[in-house]
Formats: sequence, structure tokens, C-alpha cells
Amino acid sequence: MADGKLGLNTQLAHIGNNPRDFFGFVNPPVVHASTVLYPDAKTMSERNQKYTYGTRGTPTTDALANAINELEGSAGTIVVPSGLAAVTVPLLSFLAAGDHILLVDSVYGPTRHFADTMLTRLGVQVEYYEPHIGAGITGLLRPNTKVVFTESPGSNTFEVQDIPAIAKAARVAGAIVMMDNTWATPLYFRPLDHGVDISIHAATKYPAGHSDVLIGTVSANETHWKALYEGFVTLGTCSGPDDVYQTLRGLRTMGVRLERHQKSTLEIAAWLEGQKGVARVLHPGLPSHPDHALWKRDFTGSSGIFSIVLDGGGKPQAHAFLDALQTFGLGYSWGGFESLAVQVFLGDRTIAKGQYEGPLLRLQIGLEDVDDLKADLTRGLNAAAAAGA
Ligand SMILES: *Cc1c(COP(=O)(O)O)cnc(C)c1O
Repeated sequence: MADGKLGLNTQLAHIGNNPRDFFGFVNPPVVHASTVLYPDAKTMSERNQKYTYGTRGTPTTDALANAINELEGSAGTIVVPSGLAAVTVPLLSFLAAGDHILLVDSVYGPTRHFADTMLTRLGVQVEYYEPHIGAGITGLLRPNTKVVFTESPGSNTFEVQDIPAIAKAARVAGAIVMMDNTWATPLYFRPLDHGVDISIHAATKYPAGHSDVLIGTVSANETHWKALYEGFVTLGTCSGPDDVYQTLRGLRTMGVRLERHQKSTLEIAAWLEGQKGVARVLHPGLPSHPDHALWKRDFTGSSGIFSIVLDGGGKPQAHAFLDALQTFGLGYSWGGFESLAVQVFLGDRTIAKGQYEGPLLRLQIGLEDVDDLKADLTRGLNAAAAAGA
């Protein structure tokens, strides 16, 4: 239905399923399925029909996968049971013992844990690179480098990577480029348009959007789609139909939700820059951010998560800040309708440790009224100051 000329919100309202396939009902059915029946023995032996078994896809998973393909410009998309599975399934699908992988040092923590434990145990050589490496990645590429794993902006510290430069260098060396694009969503960055082969999303965040679903999507270009789907089927990592349906429902409003997240977040981030007790605000959409120009070149918007650095102090001040909050919840994950805060841990970083003036606090700005959120953050900053920040 979407042809790329339509606006994003128009696309979001119509992509994925064709109501005429199901008697005109606007939404696709939630197909609960393991067994699919065949009309006769010949068809069964040849598996010669559209759907063959629940793990391989249903009209419900197709509706979501088709919608994501429209947004990503991808040849195919798999839907998996969490954002973390959206990271691990493509890695397991493409890597073998003896291969080398390069991962950005500001990668999502559990991605690092997977690389350091399971990939290492399987005989993959794991190496991290500095987020600003750009075309310099050429110096780290080896004949056996199979995958370059990117994430931009980086988790918690929000460094923007030069994805086109990295993708170009990796392609010359014959390495597959994967990108965890959870922060921007395909509305604000389309990885495949910038040379990435595999685009990864924790759809748990903005697509699902209501803090009640765990789900991931992985989208591949034409060259890598077959191998990705083969890995997905081999691993059996299909998602439950209710979660898939809820994500398709979330997608319909993702555009308007993101506009609100973006606006409130930029307003609060800019305001925080002028507040006493804040040393720095790490949000690439702010002109003060060192990677702002790169972000502006490649991204068409920003989402609702960023970090602040307190002006001195440590854990006691960070805890005082968090404990004073009344509207912000203390919790992991993000992308839902509610605001959240968490102290960031950088102890597992090997390169991108940063030189920060004080503790780092990550904020997810929800859909609440900005004035209430500012009042809550003021409570936090006052408490941190009272604790001696
Ligand atoms: C949250 C997150 C994930 C993992 O998603 P889950 O659904 O929580 O497993 C992966 N990558 C990034 C960047 C994330 O923020």
C-alpha cells in the first residue's frame, strides 16, 4: 500500500495487512497456530502452500513483518521474542568459529555480554572499537572479519557513529554490517539506505510503546535475507501472536507518539543544560553535542531517551536524585508512555569510558506534561545538591 511517496503517518496507518484479505476488517486476525492443515498428501509432502507451520509465519506475523519492510526498505523481516533476541539471532545466523566480529564499545550491555560469553565460547574472536572510528575501521578489519556491529547513538552515552563510512569500509572488506537502530526507529533513520545490511530493533520500545510487550524485529537487504530467515527457522525463535498483534497496534500511533517524545525531550534536555548541578546533557539533537552535525546529516529526528551528567558527586548523589523523583519511575527499558530514570553503569566499557564530571543518569521522557516532568527533575537536582553534588 505504501509507495514511499506517502507521508510517514499515512504509511503507519495503512501498512502491513490488506483488510480485503479478511472480509474488510481493518485489523488482521490474531492467528494462534502450531499446525496448519494441508488439503491432500501431495501438497503436504511438497509443503506447497503459503503457510506450513506456526514457527515459520502466520498472517499475523506477516502483517507486522510487511509493515516493518515498508518502513525499513528491507527485503524481509523476522519477528523474534525480544530485542535481545533480535541481536542474538542474526549474530548466530551469520557467525561461525574462527570468524572475527567488531562491535562498537558503546553497544547495549546485554549485546556485549552475549559477545563476551556465548560468541567467545563458540570460537568467535570478539573485538570492540571506539564509536567515532568512522572510516578508520579499515585498520581493524581482518581477512576473517565477518560482522561489523554498530549501534547509533550508542547506548547510554549517545555517541553518533558515521554509519555510511563504516558500512563502506566494511563492504570493501566483505564484512556484513549490522545496526541496532532501536533509538531512532525506522522513522528517523533507515539503516539500509546508509549501507547497512541488517537492521535490528528492540520493538519492545517505541513500536510496542506501552511497556507491556517484549519483541524484536530484524530486517535484511536482498543479499542477506535468505540466510537470516534460515537462521530464524533453525533457532525456532518465533514470537507469540498476541505480542505480534499488540506491536502492530502500537505501530499505528508510533508516529504521533514519537513526535511528542521528540518535542518534550528536546525541550527538557535544553532546559537541563541551564540547570545548576548538571554538568552536561548527552543528547545528539542538541547543538552542544559533539556529534550534533553528524546526527543532523544522517537522522531525520530524535527520540525520547538521553543522559545527563551531574556536576560532581557519585553514587550517593545519583541515588538522592533518583529517590526524590515522583513522576519518573525507576526502571529499565524505555519507549513506553511513562517517564523513567536510571543510573548508567559504564564499568564494562573498554574504550568509550568517557571523562565525566559526575554520575550519569539516563532519562526516558514519556508522554506526560513537560511542566510536571521539569518539576520532578528539579526535585531530583535539589536532592542531589543536598546530598553534596
Ligand atoms: C532494550 C534494548 C534492547 C533489548 O530489547 P529487549 O526487548 O528489552 O530485550 C536491544 N538494544 C537496545 C539498544 C535496547 O535499548
